[in-house]
Amino acid sequence: MLDAERFEHRPHSTLIEIHPPGDTAGQSFATQLLDKYQPSAVVFIEKTGPNAKGVHHSIMGTAKNPDETGHAFHLAEAAKTRGIVTIGVGDGGNEIGNGLIYDAARQIQPYGITCQCDCEDGVVTVTATDVLISASVSNWGAYGIAAQLAYELKNADYFQSEEMEDFMLRQCVAAGGTDGAYAAQVLYVDGTSARTQRALVAMLREIIENGFKTVHRGF
Ligand SMILES: [Zn+2]
Repeated sequence: MLDAERFEHRPHSTLIEIHPPGDTAGQSFATQLLDKYQPSAVVFIEKTGPNAKGVHHSIMGTAKNPDETGHAFHLAEAAKTRGIVTIGVGDGGNEIGNGLIYDAARQIQPYGITCQCDCEDGVVTVTATDVLISASVSNWGAYGIAAQLAYELKNADYFQSEEMEDFMLRQCVAAGGTDGAYAAQVLYVDGTSARTQRALVAMLREIIENGFKTVHRGF
């Protein structure tokens, strides 16, 4: 991990701020982050948001311990108050952003209306964002945004390579990450193999690069 000073001088690097667990900590962290970075947009990728009763759920309908969960929805609400664009990326209905399609998500999702915990109010969050991107795998929705940004900024290298994708997945597994479908430390993302991640990245990268080309077909 880089400190803030080195981050300034390292292209293609990411600065990580660890979101604290708990509701009260989430509130103050939201204000701190927005004050410090003054962002143009805030993007939430597969971050759970609360349902109408304030309970965070897993996609399997079980409740999350509020004291061990990052209450990032405060960041969404604070950003909206300041007029900052908010984008949510999700694949299950329980993630920040899905409040935008609350009724539909409750109908579609198996635990949408009734969950497996005592709140009995379903897993779908009430937290909406300005834009919601639904993808079968949340990562892929985020890759779509990244690919479009790389195209708009006229630099395909702003999007990851297949090698980097493979490296990131291996690092996640090595750090203890488990696949969402198999609940095991395997080179899979929501039940899809590393080969599929590389293929998707290769396809998106080629779309970006083709977008920069002008092909003269000779007639
Ligand atoms: Zn519940």
